[in-house]
Amino acid sequence: MKAPPRRPLVLVGPSGVGKTTIADRLVRMRPDLFTLSVSATTRPPRAGERPGREYAFVSRSVFEQMIAGGNLAEWAEVHGEYYGTPAENLEGLPGDGPVPVLDIDVQGARQVMKRGTGALVIFILPPGPAEWIDRLAGRGTESPEAIARRLRTALEELRAAPSFEHFVVNADLDETVRRVLAAADGHSGRLPEASEVAALCRGLEAGARSEIRRLEGARKERA
Ligand code: ADP
Ligand code: 5GP
Repeated sequence: MKAPPRRPLVLVGPSGVGKTTIADRLVRMRPDLFTLSVSATTRPPRAGERPGREYAFVSRSVFEQMIAGGNLAEWAEVHGEYYGTPAENLEGLPGDGPVPVLDIDVQGARQVMKRGTGALVIFILPPGPAEWIDRLAGRGTESPEAIARRLRTALEELRAAPSFEHFVVNADLDETVRRVLAAADGHSGRLPEASEVAALCRGLEAGARSEIRRLEGARKERA
């Protein structure tokens, strides 16, 4: 019997939750099953990022031409910069080749779902506020102001969590990758209940709000 066609995989969730790390792991472990979808963005490259590898880095006018030309499967403005998935990443996929893994924001995930691509969308959650804020800050590439801004956007993303169907809590990375692989294979495994997700999100929101207050207090003291 022929295996059912595999579905593009969308990882969504608040900044710093581990989406990029999970996507990289999946592609490294199973290049036969997954390939990274490289997005276009107008944000400047971070240290160590290479054009065409993490993103196609483009100007605002080039990005706007891509929108006008219908070249993007979805796009959104995040933290004041444009991000979008080239339509070709999701179209005309060979039946037996690897499927793209998209690491995109909530607005983009909604557009991908509406487009009828059959994508499996998984909302990734951090295990708790302390781990999450450590991960966000621990990346070491962001100023306190940028972290506070990411946390504010993340609060909005968390509010959108109940509108998604599949959740994985990224506590232990190996376990997370196993769960995502199982979900991509059509096995739901043990996924958190809606009430568990709601309770976790409340704790994360409270933690994010108090960290934003702390970062803003520290900024005022420095000024
Ligand atoms: P996102 O793409 O969601 O913004 P990243 O993948 O950049 O998040 O991860 C943010 C930080 O958290 C990175 O330093 C990464 O190494 C770390 N991280 C990701 N998953 C885990 C995990 N399960 N346990 C501990 N640290 C993690
Ligand atoms: P970063 O600048 O940290 O790489 O990404 C910032 C945010 O933009 C993350 O939430 C990431 O998931 C999102 N993002 C990255 N690429 C895309 C994309 O192509 N489309 C959308 N909608 N969001 C994206």
